[in-house]
Amino acid sequence: MQKNPNPANWRAKTRAVRGGTKRSEFQETSEGLFLTSGYAYASAESAEARFRQTEDGFVYSRFGNPTVQMFEERMALLEGAPVARATATGLAAVTAAFLCFLRAGDHVVAAQALFGGCRYIVEEVLPRFGIATTLVHGPDLAAWRAAVRPTTKAFFLETPANPTLEIIDLGEVAQIAHAAGAKLMVDNVFATPVLQKPMAFGTDIVIYSATKHIDGQGRCLGGVILCDPEFLKDHLQVFLRNTGPTLSPFNAWVLLKSLETLDLRVREMSRHAEAVADFLGQHAKVERVLYPFRDDHPQAALARAQMAMGGSIVTFTVAGGKAAAFRVANALRLIDISNNLGDAKSLITHPATTTHQRLAPDARAALGISDGMLRLSVGLEDPADLCEDLAGALAYA
Ligand SMILES: *Cc1c(COP(=O)(O)O)cnc(C)c1O
Repeated sequence: MQKNPNPANWRAKTRAVRGGTKRSEFQETSEGLFLTSGYAYASAESAEARFRQTEDGFVYSRFGNPTVQMFEERMALLEGAPVARATATGLAAVTAAFLCFLRAGDHVVAAQALFGGCRYIVEEVLPRFGIATTLVHGPDLAAWRAAVRPTTKAFFLETPANPTLEIIDLGEVAQIAHAAGAKLMVDNVFATPVLQKPMAFGTDIVIYSATKHIDGQGRCLGGVILCDPEFLKDHLQVFLRNTGPTLSPFNAWVLLKSLETLDLRVREMSRHAEAVADFLGQHAKVERVLYPFRDDHPQAALARAQMAMGGSIVTFTVAGGKAAAFRVANALRLIDISNNLGDAKSLITHPATTTHQRLAPDARAALGISDGMLRLSVGLEDPADLCEDLAGALAYA
């Protein structure tokens, strides 16, 4: 048994270490990994009662699993959300969050600056099932208002956005969504639950790719949906049970242990990112640096109002387009070329040819993604080593 039975009274760091923990009869200190697909019942009557949901207990791991449940409860406590459900990937979370409650004839408004897979779901998948979608320039509040239709059921956005680190005013957009009778869904991957709490600004549904900072060590994929109990009961629960985008208990265990260090890792990575952004900002070969908490970010004030720190991603542009950006990436000796982010290892990617390759050149231009742009996910290495690596590589720009 836990000694302090009320996690709601714990502060955030304590919740991240102990939230959701349930011990077996062995009183293990590290959370148990329940690699089991099914559960045995004491009697046929008990099986009947569990299926009727008149008796508590697990039924089948597509419906629930002790290790996955510990991860979900810890995530909900950390976010300050009523409930959480885990999924196999971030994109499974986004897909389920939309499809569990939308139907043909409904309408969705989304910011145009979305993670590639999220944009595919909004632009390609939803319309195929009769759900109309409108993409808007996220920071433009008038555009959100103008996009509303009588059938609008959901608003969807990321802030900071990938890779331009554009900031969207969560409180203002939540008001517009609610006035329209729509739910606001926020993909909070770049900010993490440590640096930004979208529900505090009126967001209804928060989504994570746990693959990123939550794992943070490049090991496994995962996703999370956080919402209120009504949305879970009326829409999400039954959809997840019967479509099966379930998180593996093994991955849930890895992610659960990662949450214990999330706060430390994200704050340290943010400090490193700030130092790297300042280094890039004064480098002659760098045309432009984008980092939410830098004074030259066009929405620095809004970023400071919504986020506790600037986050671990720095985006910068070198003169000379794709060729110059490739020369810089190829000359790095420490930082890896990889499209993942939020990892302890610093990773760099060229958005125009990787994460945003699918978009037409004009759509990329509309997002502010130029051919000379590089997105750097700053990790936990010593920032002095990262700056030395970047200095050496920038000589080739
Ligand atoms: C990576 C990512 C996703 C998708 O998550 P997966 O776990 O890779 O499926 C969604 N949104 C954002 C902002 C991401 O960075």
